[in-house]
Amino acid sequence: MKIHNPKSLEEAVQLKKSYPEAVYFAGGTYVYSLGHDFADAIDISRVVRNEIYHTMNHVHIGAMATLEKILLSELSPLILRNGAKLCPSLQQRSAATIGGNIAQRRDDGYLTAAVLASEPVIVLMTENGRLEVSADDYMAGKYDGLILEFIFRKNLKGDVKRIGRTSHMHMAVSGAECNGVYAYTASSSGFAKGGKDSWQDIAFESDSLGSADYKRYLLSVMF
Ligand SMILES: Cc1cc2nc3c(=O)[nH]c(=O)nc-3n(C[C@H](O)[C@H](O)[C@H](O)COP(=O)(O)OP(=O)(O)OC[C@H]3O[C@@H](n4cnc5c(N)ncnc54)[C@H](O)[C@@H]3O)c2cc1C
Repeated sequence: MKIHNPKSLEEAVQLKKSYPEAVYFAGGTYVYSLGHDFADAIDISRVVRNEIYHTMNHVHIGAMATLEKILLSELSPLILRNGAKLCPSLQQRSAATIGGNIAQRRDDGYLTAAVLASEPVIVLMTENGRLEVSADDYMAGKYDGLILEFIFRKNLKGDVKRIGRTSHMHMAVSGAECNGVYAYTASSSGFAKGGKDSWQDIAFESDSLGSADYKRYLLSVMF
């Protein structure tokens, strides 16, 4: 395993093209977790920003912002702060980044429901240059690339909920509501977004966190 240290975004993307098996190394909490096999890694900590700042109508969050930074910053949208809080470990929150979390498109992702419901624009660096895509399209796997930042509208109102057996176990289900848009996740089953009943679009599967019927019921009464 080799760790590459690109000096520019362009070089990072070029390295990924040259080494397709390589992973981007952000906080490293997933790629570096015990027993996780990975090939080469591309350290993006020097080329992707971690700032959180406001412009006239938007809140910008760099993809290298950690969940702890998002949680503590009063500049972060409240729904995202509450999403970051779903990661129960201070140690993990202090390293895990929003880019690394969303890039995995997890159906037990700490930020999956909050990001889907709050509909930020996601800025990517691709082989063809910078690209702005919707969170929906990114989460649906329509685009890949190095995530640079998330751009949220200001004054979002909403909340996030999660249900799991304990705070430190993977969540069975989660849901978020933001300005009338709902998003839901269910472990091993995927995620859905839309109206209040959009949880019905999930093809529920049983796993060690709960049966398909249990997860379906939890989401039906969540909001
Ligand atoms: C014990 C344990 C339990 C966990 N439980 C959960 C859980 O319940 N829910 C959950 O969501 N996560 C969980 N995780 C995984 C992980 O901690 C989080 O998903 C974290 O947010 C990943 O962020 P990171 O910065 O550490 O990503 P990294 O580990 O650095 O990278 C993760 C993946 O994202 C890609 N990536 C990283 N940054 C970017 C970027 N800017 N652009 C494009 N691709 C990128 C990498 O190529 C890699 O494939 C757990 C991890 C551990 C060790």
